[in-house]
Amino acid sequence: MKLAILKETAHGETRVAAIPETVKKFAGLGARIAVEQGAGGRADISDEDFAGAGATIGSRTEVLSGADIILCVSGPEPESLAGASSGALLVGALDPFRRREAINGYAGSGLEALAMEWMPRITRAQSMDILSSQSNLAGYKAVIDAAAAYGRAYPMMMTAAGTISPARVFVMGVGVAGLQAIATARRLGAQVSATDVRSATREQIQSLGAKPIFVEGVKGIEGEGQGGYAGETSEEYRRAQAELVSTHLAKQDIVITTALIPGRPAPRLISDSQLASMRPGSVVVDLAAEAGGNVEGTVVGERTKLHGVTVIGAANLARSLPADASALFARNLFNFLSAFWDKEAGRVVLPDDDEIVRGIRVTRGGSIVSERITAA
Ligand code: NAD
Repeated sequence: MKLAILKETAHGETRVAAIPETVKKFAGLGARIAVEQGAGGRADISDEDFAGAGATIGSRTEVLSGADIILCVSGPEPESLAGASSGALLVGALDPFRRREAINGYAGSGLEALAMEWMPRITRAQSMDILSSQSNLAGYKAVIDAAAAYGRAYPMMMTAAGTISPARVFVMGVGVAGLQAIATARRLGAQVSATDVRSATREQIQSLGAKPIFVEGVKGIEGEGQGGYAGETSEEYRRAQAELVSTHLAKQDIVITTALIPGRPAPRLISDSQLASMRPGSVVVDLAAEAGGNVEGTVVGERTKLHGVTVIGAANLARSLPADASALFARNLFNFLSAFWDKEAGRVVLPDDDEIVRGIRVTRGGSIVSERITAA
């Protein structure tokens, strides 16, 4: 089996789909690994580091030639894969809904495209889940970016010149990113509170030493929701949530919003008038900016000042931690491929009836095979 590791070309992409550790592990399975020149540059991994782990280094054409598996972080343009063998696996974050043209292109080239972001949320697939590994880093970075934009300190400080009161941080949406945001803000000494629509998160919030802010008396989403994800809430719940949040928001210094509903625009959690009720100098980081934003007025990838509040429309924050983000992403890819590695045949075998395979397989044999796309 020959594995090709591409140098990322998507705008703003800093990560790489392999690290020396995973190159060695793939080699241990009997694979040959070819890394495109400069692939790890932005993640501080040199060509020599990859070569030292057993990879060969070459141009895009050289690494693609004869490759059975192509690993990427962001899906490449299909034209840039000219020379790849028909039937080769293309594995990475392919963003199928937003990159439909590219998906058609992969199908046209006979590639078997596997969208890692569609990994089912089952225990067996936890170590392969790129959404979790990258969201965790994004949650951390959101708190750090907010700290940098905030004109005050996070922890309480008692100094000879007087006392600084602790920052009040409110996390809205307590999935993977939100939990890490709570933990990070707590470590920095902030007073943290958090909310979610899934009742199962209440205990998780408490166990991290934060205060849960929950709508009482109106049913939200009991338990974990489908596949762990949230769904739409009732009109009555949304009204009660907005009321509760309004009173709470006005007293917060930093707000991190992470609320997402799969396949739908992000829920609007903070209105313009709620922003106006916050103290000038407060900071809001909207991690859902790319999905439409949790905050009214968010601009993706930009920092705007609204009513004296800095609103950061965070876009793919994991990219701002390229070394760690690459390491976790690369291990997710290794964990996936090694789980399907047939040692006797010396290659990856993807059974049609496997839940993981069915979840992530997008194209095969020249066609789009994912029902999520064909039914859309
Ligand atoms: P996500 O990114 O889809 O959403 C972030 C959070 O926003 C969720 O907690 C969601 O409930 C919340 N939310 C949605 N609408 C909201 C609203 N109107 N107000 C407030 N909050 C709202 O979620 P995620 O980070 O991907 O994780 C969701 C769950 O899935 C977690 O319980 C996580 O532990 C679980 N999970 C399981 C696996 C696995 O088993 N393989 C992998 C990853 C995540």
